[in-house]
Order: sequence, then structure tokens, then C-alpha cells
Amino acid sequence: MTAVELTIREGAGVITIDNPPVNALRAGMAEDIHACLAAAEDDPAIRAVVLIGAGRTFIAGADIRAFEKPESLLGILPLLGRLESCPKPVVAAIHGTALGGGLEVAMACHYRVASADAQVGQAEINLGLIPGAEGTQRLPRLAGVARALEMCVSGAPLPAAEALAAGILDEIVAGDLLSGAVRYALEKASAGGPWPKASSRDERLGTPEENEPLFANAREQAARTRRHQTAPHRAIEAVRAATTLPYREGCRRERVLFEECLAGPQSQAMIHAFLAERAATKVPAIYGAQPWPVDSVAIVGAGTMGGGIAMAFANAGIPVRLKDSTSAALDRGMSTVRKNYQNSVRKGRFTAEVMESRLALIQPQLTYDGFDSVGLIIEAVFENLALKKQIFAELDALAAPACLLATNSSTLDIDAMAAATSRPHMVAGMHFFSPANVMRLLEIVRGRDTAPEVLATAQAVARKLKKVGVVVGNCPGFVGNRMFALYLREAQFLVEEGATPWQVDQVLHDWGMAMGIFAIDDMAGIDVAWRVKQEQKHLETPGTRTPLVLDQLYAMGRLGQKTGLGWHRYDENRKASPDPEIEALIERTARAAGIERRTIGPEEIIERCIYAMVNEGARILQEGRASRAGDIDIIYLTGYGFPTYRGGPMWYADSVGLPAVHQRITEFQARHGALWTPAPLLAHLASKGGTFAALDRMPRPE
Ligand code: NAD
Repeated sequence: MTAVELTIREGAGVITIDNPPVNALRAGMAEDIHACLAAAEDDPAIRAVVLIGAGRTFIAGADIRAFEKPESLLGILPLLGRLESCPKPVVAAIHGTALGGGLEVAMACHYRVASADAQVGQAEINLGLIPGAEGTQRLPRLAGVARALEMCVSGAPLPAAEALAAGILDEIVAGDLLSGAVRYALEKASAGGPWPKASSRDERLGTPEENEPLFANAREQAARTRRHQTAPHRAIEAVRAATTLPYREGCRRERVLFEECLAGPQSQAMIHAFLAERAATKVPAIYGAQPWPVDSVAIVGAGTMGGGIAMAFANAGIPVRLKDSTSAALDRGMSTVRKNYQNSVRKGRFTAEVMESRLALIQPQLTYDGFDSVGLIIEAVFENLALKKQIFAELDALAAPACLLATNSSTLDIDAMAAATSRPHMVAGMHFFSPANVMRLLEIVRGRDTAPEVLATAQAVARKLKKVGVVVGNCPGFVGNRMFALYLREAQFLVEEGATPWQVDQVLHDWGMAMGIFAIDDMAGIDVAWRVKQEQKHLETPGTRTPLVLDQLYAMGRLGQKTGLGWHRYDENRKASPDPEIEALIERTARAAGIERRTIGPEEIIERCIYAMVNEGARILQEGRASRAGDIDIIYLTGYGFPTYRGGPMWYADSVGLPAVHQRITEFQARHGALWTPAPLLAHLASKGGTFAALDRMPRPE
């Protein structure tokens, strides 16, 4: 099957790329374009050439899987030179998105025209890479150094109008893109050559005096927005090469830098994250199950989560009924929603009119009015099983037969809630993360009786909300919080043994975590952690070690950010600082309990925190509560601020080497006891030289 075809239209050769769904550049495609171009050059009936994508987009980038065999994409390099040196004018006609290799091909054409809703960008940075097909050399020549730096470091796409103003596009076509592009190409052919080549332009490359501050600024931006990532710095260096070296030498420099990125662990982790996110939405258990459309929803509980979830739906244009039990709670919830929207308006994210239209979609109420006509109800009341069971019984009595009854519980038993209804197959967890209107993760919890159609509907809702829905099994804390509980427990043990909360958080943050674990606990509220602990007391094994300080914080009213004191101290702007009082309290408590105190270094902090998660992740996998190690990684990358360039906890363990991880866990077991018993799956993989990633690639029964 050939994905590239040459046809003739009104004297123009039209090269159409047809590789659904997004015309990704895959092995052999550059060669096919090359062949069509050669045929167009030879055909006397053709005066100009148009390169266009079939379907919904221009070339949206390279096929990510091709990066596993990068040599398969090398054909793009000779194509670029051939496009530029074509004796007939070549016009790229862009609709949808021209990203990465797509934009690089377009920039090698003499001209670029686009539909008004098109976007262009160099998105490689999101995969830990830099443009590798001369993008860092042509883009500054077309758009100037500042714009090229901004695009290569942020990876953000540029809308057509801005790309036109920046000099990347030559014209925006109103109406049919292909007709406009053919007209444009034939006009250029009639006007006569030579046709402009981006590679030989240097009028926008600036002077060293102008450029040095731009590079310094870009480095500073990269350090802030892509902390610890190496690709942005290589992208900056490549753009710098465009300003200091002749074109060909600049390209060679770009190639070296690109290959360094490709060979490095960060791009491998980020490519894994990209593929794992796509895989997470494909759930074998629900293949073929049809979701039902959800056009309106209702939420019970207008607190932190209920309000945030309501905003997530309103932002997607879906009307929401938001119920609470008292008007004080409802008013508080709605005023928080309004305040959050006002903040966004103040920051220029959207206009006051947009805010009003979103607010108008949220209907606050104290009754169950209208709950019988929605396709989805989400319960978000306090984390208390008895209360939740009561709410589910009430919902069962009034919801439509085809209504998904979901709970936003973070830890509790879905089956117990389902059992309070007459339709357990319609019940599932839909676990949003705080702030629910921002965080991308949605854990979709499958109960014992949850129907495949219910899971498919929850997945479809996640997509509508632009979230990543990951289906997980029902167990205390599901996947994310089950691992998080052990992470938090280990961090508390570390401070009892001699580290400080501030030190632990600094080490974790320096390692790449978006926030330290104690800072997260303070943000969520010590009372929340305490309440979860009460609900799970029955799961504790008598005689095993439990952390000692959390209960004291709760009793002292040190509830975290909201009270200005928790594991850290907070000023009126909620800026954290270390608190000597808590350090003294921890030390007193630990000594009274006879815990030996010592100096604890960063390496041990990382190993104990991260391996505690990995070990539990292996148990979760073995129990089948997560379908793939990649799902666990996605949960941690999108819901818990795990650094993307480390690929998630399970990928990270693979990258360290499972034998080494297993060895450390065994040492911790010898020192700290049974809580560190290695998970059987981890022990098995370590002994066989396996990896979690390889396990994901194995065929599964289902
Ligand atoms: P919250 O205390 O902020 O809000 C709970 C709301 O439920 C309150 O407004 C309360 O008035 C209302 N409520 C209580 N009983 C009710 C009833 N019978 N009918 C209607 N409304 C009632 O709590 P939250 O932080 O929003 O948590 C809600 C749920 O979400 C919990 O199950 C929690 O575990 C889960 N969750 C919380 C977070 C988080 O970070 N806060 C994250 C994920 C999930």
C-alpha cells in the first residue's frame, strides 16, 4: 500500500500523503514523497507542486514507534534538500497540525500556505528530543531566533495567524485549502523563480549582541519549566549553532545533539510515557463495549472535589447539577468555583463572558431535582463509607436505569457502595485528582460487578474532559493512593529515624518530583490523611510498625496549609518554610519510642520512598489491579507529579535494573522487617533478568 500519491490538478502536481489517522512520517514515506517529487519534476505538464495531507491533518509528526529504529527515518534528510532544490515551486498546504517532522518538511518547501485553523510547532521536546530534520536551522531563518527558541523549548504549537505573522507561513487560505494552494503555486510558477529557500536566508539570524540575551533567557525558561531536562538545553544549543555556523555545519551540529537526546534515558522515558498514555485508553476487558452518551451530569457534595469536578464538566460544555446538604456548604462550594474562575480570568486564560457561560452550566441545588434525567451521577461527599452507602441507596431510588453511578472516593470499597444499590453493575469509581479541573488523571475503578459498558462510558467521559482515564481494580486506595500510602508511610519512618520533613521534601523535589511528599500532605490536609487512616485501621496488621506523628499533628490542629502549620510552616501566602517545632516533636516522639536516630542521606531517602512504591506497584500488577506497568506509570505521571523524564515508578525501576532494586529491597527487609518483603513478581523478574516494560509487551489472556 502506498501512502503517497501524485495527481495533477490544473497544471499543478499534487502530492497527497495518506497515512491515517494523522499522516505520521513512517519508514519509507520520505522515499515515497521523494519519488513523487521526481516524477513531478520530470512531467512537463506540471508547473508547480503542492504537498498536502489527506484526511484531518498535514503530517502531524514522525511516527513515534519509528524512534525505536531511528535509521528508518533517515530518508527525510535527502528529501529536504530535494524539496528545496526542486526547479518548480513547491508549496506545503497545511491543515490540522504540522508538528515536528511535519513542520520540518513544510519548511523545506519554498512556500507554506495553511487553513485558518491550522497549527504548526516543534513538539519534539515533549518526547525528550530536539528537531532532528534541520528544524533548528530553518526555523530561526524563517521566524527569527527568539521565536525559534520559544517554539523548540516549549513545544507548544502556534496557531496559523501567529505563524503567518512570525514568517513561518506565507498565506492563510480561506475556503478550500487544496484549491487555494494550487492557485498560489501556479501564481508563483507564472511569476518565475528563483524560489525562496529557507536554508539560504540569514536576514533574521540577528547579531551575537542581540542573541546572547535570548539564549540566556531561554536557558532560564528551560530550567524553570522543564526542570532537569536535558533536551531543551540541546535545542538551545542547536538554534545557537544556526546563528554561529554555516547552514550545513549547523545541520551537522543539530544531528549530533539530536542523536545524543535519542540515545539518552530521558527521551526513552518520555517516549515510554507517550506510548503508555495511548495504551492506557485501550482496555481489553471493554473491547466492543458501547458507551452511552453523557450530555448532562449530577454531583453530590459541593466541597473541594465536587466543585472542581463541576468545573471540569462545565469547561467541557456539559451542564452539571451540583447538590449539597446545607445552603452554607453549597454557597461555600459555589463561591470557591467562582473564585477559581475569576483567578483564571485575571490571568487572561479566558474572558469574563466565558466564565459566566461556564458558571451558567453549573446548577447549585439542595434537592435531587433533575437527578433522574442525567446519564452520570458522581458522589463526592466526605470519605466515610456509611455515608456513601446511604447516598448510593438514595441515588438508586431515583436515578434513571441507564445512569452511571460513580463515586469519587479516594480509598473506599466500591463493591460495598454497589451493594447498597439494586444495580451493582452500574456502579464504578471515578476518582478525580485535586484540583479536579486541572489534573489530567481519572482513575476508573472497576468493581466486582461493574459492566464493561459502564467502564467504556467512564472512558468516553474522560476523553470528553480531556483527561486520561485509567481503569484500575478495586482495593483500598486503588492504584495511585495504595502506592502513595506506602510512600507517605516510608517518608514518616525516615523522619522518625533522623531525616527532617524539610530535608525529605527537598531531596524528592531535587530528584524531580513536582512537590515533596510532606508538602502534598499539607496541601491535601492532615485531617484528610488522618480520616483515611481511621477508615483503614482494620487493615493494619497488629505488631507492625506504624508512623507515630500524624495523629499528634491532627490532635494539635496542625492540619497543613489551611491552618498555617503542618509538616512545614506556612506564611500568609502559603509559602512553606522548615519548622523547628515539628522537628523537635518528631525527635521527642522517636526517642520515646526507642527508635535509633542517625544521619540519613539523599540516596537512602530516594531509594526508600521510590522503592516502597515500586514494590507495591509490583504487587498491584500481580493481583491484576492494574493491567500494565505502563498504566501505573501514567497514574504517577498525570496524577502525582512524578517527573516525566523518569518515565514513572515502574519504568524508573526498570532503568535502575530490577536486580539492583530487588537487592536494596532485600537489604531494607533485613534492616526494617516484613514491611519490606519483596513482591513475588519483582523477585521473579529480577531473577530472570526481566523488566516491567517487557511484561507489558507480552500477550495476555482476556
Ligand atoms: P469536602 O469536605 O471538601 O467536601 C465534601 C462535601 O460533601 C461538603 O461540602 C459536604 O457538605 C458535602 N456533603 C456531606 N454529606 C452530604 C450529603 N448527605 N449530601 C450532599 N452533600 C453532602 O471533601 P472533598 O475533599 O471534596 O472530598 C470528597 C470526596 O472526594 C471524598 O470521598 C474524598 O476522599 C475524595 N477525594 C478527595 C481528594 C482531595 O484531594 N481532597 C482527591 C480525590 C478524591
